[in-house]
Amino acid sequence: MIYLDNNATTKIDERVLDAMMPYFKEEYANPSSMYNFSKKASNALKEARGVLKDFLNAKDEKEIIFTSCGSESANTAIKGVLNYNKSKKHIITTKVEHPCVLNLYQTLEKQGYKVDYIGVNSNGDLDLEQLEAAITPDTALVSVMWANNETGVIFPIKKISEIIKSKSPDTKFFVDAVQAAGKIPLDVQENGIDLLGISGHKFHAPKGVGALYVNSKTLITPLIVGGHQERGKRAGTENVPYIAGMAKAAELAMDGLKYELTEVKRLRDKLEKNILKNIYNSRLNTGVSNRVPNTTNIGFEYVEGELILLHMSDLGICASSGSACTSGSLEPSHVLRAMNVPFTAIHGSIRFSLSRFTTEKEIDYVCEKMPEIIEKITAISPYQEELAALKAHK
Ligand code: PLP
Repeated sequence: MIYLDNNATTKIDERVLDAMMPYFKEEYANPSSMYNFSKKASNALKEARGVLKDFLNAKDEKEIIFTSCGSESANTAIKGVLNYNKSKKHIITTKVEHPCVLNLYQTLEKQGYKVDYIGVNSNGDLDLEQLEAAITPDTALVSVMWANNETGVIFPIKKISEIIKSKSPDTKFFVDAVQAAGKIPLDVQENGIDLLGISGHKFHAPKGVGALYVNSKTLITPLIVGGHQERGKRAGTENVPYIAGMAKAAELAMDGLKYELTEVKRLRDKLEKNILKNIYNSRLNTGVSNRVPNTTNIGFEYVEGELILLHMSDLGICASSGSACTSGSLEPSHVLRAMNVPFTAIHGSIRFSLSRFTTEKEIDYVCEKMPEIIEKITAISPYQEELAALKAHK
């Protein structure tokens, strides 16, 4: 099995699993209890908070809140800011956010909020002029992802925060960094971020754990109300084994960042170049620069992405198509539509996402098999004339 779907989820690193085990077995105490037996569990939480603080370069570990996933982090941040100050009713986001953010904004629109969705160009880069023009003193929140899950395109977070602060210093800035964590350096202070969400299962920790950074100047109303855990910002007994695992994964991600930026990128580039060179009806759906190192999104013209995935799956290769990603619907991806990817390629777009566990041998195998797969599928495509024209043109 060759797993090139690491933006969907990642394999748990064995070292992460080892770090979690004691808290399932011997150290199962509730971290909030008073007796000595709970010390190891509460220390694990404290240590994990310190590691996450370093991972994000937060000022203080009190700015880290543990959550159950990236979606919860985003919901806590967004609803938390809006519910704390109900006087401002304007939100700015992008057309290419993850559904955990976009679906929430659609709900908020029904509740009376005005939401501006900023567009992107054909490379996937954000229209900063449109963003700047949209900010007013009534803007409660600007919410922008750091890296796109489908294309890997990185948004200029520092520049965006400077624009926000120069136009409306009271506006809060939330960054969904779920696809950036472990792939590029994250620094909330350097980038002027007020709130930032991550999710453990995207960087080799288990599913079901995430974190939210809220800087000390930003006040939120909690989403989950109950006990006093997480300084009253997220009730519920903390999931100590998973939090310890996520902290270990964050440590490994910090140590492994150079490898991501060089070796994982090299393998991604090798795969991408090979496909673009050897398959005449392929096109890169983004620009080549300004992307996280592990992701490429390639459109295959006049063929169906689902069919490509099925053929890949028969050969043991896992990846994702642009459509059907979350809902099982065959609607083309909202991200690729926002980028105006031609309709001839949008249905046949495949996202390949690598990780530190991807090997050269695996990439060589995929490079060998992709042309065979696409040739088989194009042979039965009803668009033979168009394909012949493309071939002649290349
Ligand atoms: N944000 C982005 C950019 C994502 O890619 C994802 C998951 O794919 C999420 C948020 C949601 O994370 P989770 O699955 O942990 O809720």
